[in-house]
Amino acid sequence: MMEIQRIKLGFFAVNCYLIKEAGHVLIIDPGARANKILEALQEQEHVEAIVLTHGHFDHIGAVDALVNQFHCPVYLNPKDEELARDMHLNALGKFSAALHCKTMPLEEPIVQIGSFQLKVFEAPGHTAGSCLIQIGNVMFTGDVLFKGSIGRCDLYSGNESEMRRSLKQFQKMDPELILYPGHEEPTMLQDELNHNPFLKERS
Ligand SMILES: [Zn+2]
Repeated sequence: MMEIQRIKLGFFAVNCYLIKEAGHVLIIDPGARANKILEALQEQEHVEAIVLTHGHFDHIGAVDALVNQFHCPVYLNPKDEELARDMHLNALGKFSAALHCKTMPLEEPIVQIGSFQLKVFEAPGHTAGSCLIQIGNVMFTGDVLFKGSIGRCDLYSGNESEMRRSLKQFQKMDPELILYPGHEEPTMLQDELNHNPFLKERS
């Protein structure tokens, strides 16, 4: 039975998710405060990998510290590699972060990590390399889709018309999907298709 823990981290309250199944763990978007993530792991649990929905500083801040600890692979879409490695491209006001560890490509259609099968949907618009990641009946939407809204398109490598195209993908997905966004509360795809103005006006 898969268990999902949500930990809010850092000034921007990014949702870091721990996906746990039979002692194996995936960490999605460890944005800050590695110590808080370590506290949420049990002694006998094994971290298989870190998976990033995109390369923004508020989603990657604790990656290098966790890699030093666990020596686990880190998956990121190659189109966000440049952004993730450059403090300047990745800055928002006085905030920034950069990735130094090696990465593995997070790409369509499937990425298999141990016993976890990730269905990957590339969804550019918020950043060029933003991805939606489906595991079973749940989907991690990063900063593409939030409950009642969508991510901004005005940062480096953001693009509004690509975002519009990316959002169309939700029309073809299972409305029963439970969505876990990069910020704020989880939601159901059905509710977003019914109420999210950014999905409604595109339908
Ligand atoms: Zn972002």
